[in-house]
This record gives sequence, C-alpha cells and structure tokens, in this order.
Amino acid sequence: MLAAWACDPSRSRGRRHREASASDRSEHQRDRDRIVHSTAFRRLVYKTQVFLNHEGDLFRTRLTHSLEVAQLGRSVAKRLSLGEDLVEAMALAHDLGHTPFGHAGQDALQQCMSEHGGFEHNLQSLRVVDQLEKRYPDFDGLNLTFEAREGILKHCSRRHAARLEAIEPGGVGRRFLDGTQPSLEAQIVNLADGMAYNAHDIDDGLRSGLLRLEMLDEVPLYRRLHSDVLRDHPGLDRQPGRRVIFEVQRRLLSLQVNDLVDTTEAALRDAAPGSADAVRRSPPLARFSDALREENRELETFLFRALYRHPQVEDSTAKARKVVAELFEAYRSAPDEMPEDFRQEEDRHRAVADYIAGMTDRFAIREHHRLTGSSPFGQGF
Ligand code: MG
Repeated sequence: MLAAWACDPSRSRGRRHREASASDRSEHQRDRDRIVHSTAFRRLVYKTQVFLNHEGDLFRTRLTHSLEVAQLGRSVAKRLSLGEDLVEAMALAHDLGHTPFGHAGQDALQQCMSEHGGFEHNLQSLRVVDQLEKRYPDFDGLNLTFEAREGILKHCSRRHAARLEAIEPGGVGRRFLDGTQPSLEAQIVNLADGMAYNAHDIDDGLRSGLLRLEMLDEVPLYRRLHSDVLRDHPGLDRQPGRRVIFEVQRRLLSLQVNDLVDTTEAALRDAAPGSADAVRRSPPLARFSDALREENRELETFLFRALYRHPQVEDSTAKARKVVAELFEAYRSAPDEMPEDFRQEEDRHRAVADYIAGMTDRFAIREHHRLTGSSPFGQGF
C-alpha cells in the first residue's frame, strides 16, 4: 500500500516516447530493469568511488556504492510506504554519469568543457539514460518515466535547467527554475546517497590504513557509537579481525535510517501533503533531525580533511586529472581515435566529453597510454 504522497506507478507522468504498458511489471519496475540491463550500469563496477579501482579489490566502486544506496533507500521507502521500485531505479542510476576516477575525473572534465557548455555529472547521468544508451530500435536512451528522470537529475545549474526547459517544457529542468522539490522518493535517494558514502568511506579509509580508529574518535558521533559497541561487547576490540568496525558501521547506518524515518514521518504529519504533486510544492519533507544533521556535518568535515585530502589520495587525484585532461586533448585533436558513433556527433567537444565520461578507470588508463605513451599510474594497469 502506497501513501497518498507517494509516486504511484499507475499514475506516472509517463515516458517521452509512447510505449504500451507491460502486463507483468509496474512502470517503475520497468525503469529499474532497464537501468540494470544498461551498458553504463555494468561499467560502474570499474569506476572509482574514492579509491582507484586498481588500488584494491575490497574497496567500494561506483557499482557497490549504488547498490548500498538502493538498499538504504528501499529500507526507508518501505517504512514510509513510498515507491520502493522507483527509489531503487533512481539509486541504481544516480551515478551513471560519473567519469572514471571519481571526483578527480569529474573536475578535470569540467575544466576541459568550461568553454564548451560545461560538464555536470548529474546532467550527464540524465544524458546517459535519455540519449547515450542506444539499445532500442525506436528511440535513443532508456525512455524512463518522468519520475525516474526527475530523481536522476539531482542538481542542475539554472543555465542548464533553462536549456532543458526549452527542449522539454514543464519537464525535469523546471523545478530548478521554480525552486520546487522533487518527489519524496527522490529526496530519500539523495539522503541515502550521503548516508552510504559517509559510512562506507570510513570503512574503506580504515581498510586502506589512511584512517585509524583513534582518529575517528575525534568525531563525536563515531566516538559515541564506538564506546556503545565496546560497552555492549567488552573485549571485542581485542579480537582479531574487523568486527568492531563492522558493528559501529551497522549502528551508524541504523541510526541514520531510523532518524530519517522518524523525522520525515513527523514532517509528513505536519504538512499532510495530499499527493505526490503536493510534496513537490512543499519545502523538503525528507530530512534528518537537526541534531543528527549537525553530527553528520562534523563527520563529513573530518572525512574531507583526513581522507579526501590525504596526500596519498591527492597523489592519485593529480594523476587522474592529468589522464583525463590529456585524453580530452588527444581525442579533440584526433577524433578518428574515437569509435564511429562519437565521431558522428556534431559538437566535437561534447562527443569527447561523452566518450571519456563513459570510460572505466582501467580503459581510460589504457587509452591514455595508447595515445600518449605515458603511464602516470606505473606500468601494468
Ligand atoms: Mg552517489
């Protein structure tokens, strides 16, 4: 049973290209299935989240990150009687437009495209599902429903929103011009994204050795959960293995999910939106309590300083930027080095950006070596 404010797939705003409905699946289940079968989705397994794909087999990749976002999002959606399939679809697709090498790749591509229409990864995710996947006889893209596309376009500059609005009046660009909100399902995915990366970046940071447990005790939220675990399980920290870390991790995620559900339920009780469209016209209704939001902010500040700005991460970042910038220049000056469908695109800079954005880390490294002869990450990758 869906709540009155949920996105009901039987009342979807529909797809850009008309299609007969499926008898066996809802419209949002179909969206999810199309995303799972897309080429861009399979590439996520070889794309960096924080640690480069070749740095270790146990770190998160964009794929495992997206699965964790889907799991957390579904848990919250179920408890709030929201559309679980829609949440899953958006979670699995939210990072499809990410470049190789995580944020380093994205920053480099942004710089390369700054004079040529810009590059935004959220917009690129929408571009992947609207245009770049070419697998249906009658249209480009996956032809997802409005609701899925609305959530995939998480952020968008006014300039790009105006361009989208011109192509598709009243479509997914509109809310960035009006200052309205997306569906509750989209709001939940957005918060689940942050929940997932804050928690898994701690785990990956500890696994890599760049973070140590003592450092995390500077973060009040972590310190509290860590001492709760040791109080409930005396001696667990003296056992070999990582049980303490996993138990703190588990409590951290439960705390976030429970807080989000309780705070959002209270907000929904107050606002009592009568429909999914009433949610879009309300201020953001999915939210954490003020206290947890503040604690999450402290955690993020810590991660930024101790992990994302760690010299070893920065070293990989600098190399990744160089690979992306040099690849961009190589294809721009020799477009014949790209596959045929990218050579046919009229806007050459956009074609190069699309091609590079779609690459996995290791393909980008191999192409960079083929075109420039250099190996910034060393031989053998
Ligand atoms: Mg993400």
